[in-house]
Amino acid sequence: DHGADMDTLMRHADAAMYQAKSGGRDHARLFTPQMEEQQLQQLHLETDLRHAIERHELVLYYQPRIDARTGRLNGVESLIRWQHPQRGLIAPDSFIPAAEESGLIVPIGAWVIREACRQHVAWRAAGAGDIGVSINLSAIQLKHGGLVATLREVLRDFSIAPGLIEFELTESILMENVDDTIATLQAVKALGFALSIDDFGTGYSSLNYLCRFPLDKLKIDMSFVQNIHSSPQNLAVTKAIIGLGHTLGLTVTAEGVESAADAAVLRHAGCDELQGYYFARPMPQAQLAAWLAQTAAACVA
Ligand code: C2E
Ligand code: MG
Ligand code: MG
Repeated sequence: DHGADMDTLMRHADAAMYQAKSGGRDHARLFTPQMEEQQLQQLHLETDLRHAIERHELVLYYQPRIDARTGRLNGVESLIRWQHPQRGLIAPDSFIPAAEESGLIVPIGAWVIREACRQHVAWRAAGAGDIGVSINLSAIQLKHGGLVATLREVLRDFSIAPGLIEFELTESILMENVDDTIATLQAVKALGFALSIDDFGTGYSSLNYLCRFPLDKLKIDMSFVQNIHSSPQNLAVTKAIIGLGHTLGLTVTAEGVESAADAAVLRHAGCDELQGYYFARPMPQAQLAAWLAQTAAACVA
């Protein structure tokens, strides 16, 4: 039913296999014409992405991280966006997987690191002070092996205090090739950079390994944080994570804080840092500069 000749049949079988694999393997998928359309779109996306860096289409947005106790700015998280000439602004979830699959995440990730550090230095030069920046890393960047070299270059090219630059990794990244990962993270840490676990509580962290990673911070996943003021279960899990983090000597951040009520509960539970739409959305650098000027005198919490 799915092709009148061998080539078409094979191509369509391949499309179905591709979908089965991307669904986490161990699946069966029957070919549909939409699959081919999707694959074509994916291919176009990848071709366009190849030129995104040189065409200056990638931008970093920054979302403030707030000190839970003082309400003052602790730093910002850099979040990538793709300003596509035809499709408009594309969110990372729509192109990071393609970037990872094609290996383009390595040059893109290196660009993110340099751009975030350049911006950090530019803020200081503009009199905004030392604004710490956290940067999301992909598993491929750790596996690829060029990360430490990129970081050495960054330290050579920009005058930064590396302790103010923090790398965010998800649990699933950490749990792949644990020994290699620990070695790489130790090298990153030895250069003076800070490390945090992103989306904590959703992956498959082994608590045993957790102590072996040279970490500074846990970021509690949004799913536990949202509506914490009305969910005893979420509050219980969040309190346990905060306790675990503090016992291990780590700072704890809650992300996805969307209301004053949630912020108050988190502060009361002993969370150190808050991030979410309630304080500010991710925004381009110019808008952040205005936000900083406006909130410089006041506390936002
Ligand atoms: P993440 O690192 O966990 O980032 C948090 C995501 O939650 C961001 O989505 C942010 O905009 C969103 N967010 C922040 N506050 C709130 C809130 O109060 N409510 C809700 N509903 N959402 C909130 P975004 O920017 O679309 O990024 C999605 C993911 O893409 C990130 O999740 C991160 O894993 C990845 N990503 C972003 N930038 C990069 C990058 O430069 N490199 C890599 N490898 N991944 C990146
Ligand atoms: Mg993050
Ligand atoms: Mg997160």
